[in-house]
Amino acid sequence: MFYCENCKYLNNTSVCGFCGRTGLRSPVAEDFCYLTEMDVSLGKMLKEIFDAENILCAVIPSGDGFRSSLALPLGNYKLFVPYRDYEKANEIIKEIFENNCSALKKELLENLGKLHFSGKTEKKCRKKLKLSKETNFLEFIKEKVASAEKVFDAGASSYSSFGRYINVSVGSWTILIITGTWEIVSVNKTE
Ligand SMILES: [Zn+2]
Repeated sequence: MFYCENCKYLNNTSVCGFCGRTGLRSPVAEDFCYLTEMDVSLGKMLKEIFDAENILCAVIPSGDGFRSSLALPLGNYKLFVPYRDYEKANEIIKEIFENNCSALKKELLENLGKLHFSGKTEKKCRKKLKLSKETNFLEFIKEKVASAEKVFDAGASSYSSFGRYINVSVGSWTILIITGTWEIVSVNKTE
């Protein structure tokens, strides 16, 4: 493992995959390493969990230029932990992520009846997916969602002022839904 002092990324080779710096050194226990970037609320929750586990965690706000230009609070946190706790911190994230998935799926299934989409989205998706006129698109999507294999939080929605994106995947299908309004915003299928 190699450590980039410039951007705090851990790399598998001596060249930083993020900034391109060469001749990276091996990490030492005290090096703060980039762990993940997440939504402010999840980031805060994670920091509290790390505090409880005695893992030092540095948090730096990060966000897109659009939010910055409007002087809105930055949307994301970048989290850093010392190299000695890097693996443990990753394990914790993995665990939370998995718990979060099953809770989200439950919430989604409880709100299955509220799913809807705009006429524009339906038209676009029907065309893209080459669905026949006879197919009831909403019922079709509901069936997909009900048998979802993976459900994960895809971050705060920039599309609606409240709510979050939920990414649902089943087979080669990916469906993006906004919580709260339960609007389906996109449906994709990989060949
Ligand atoms: Zn770098």
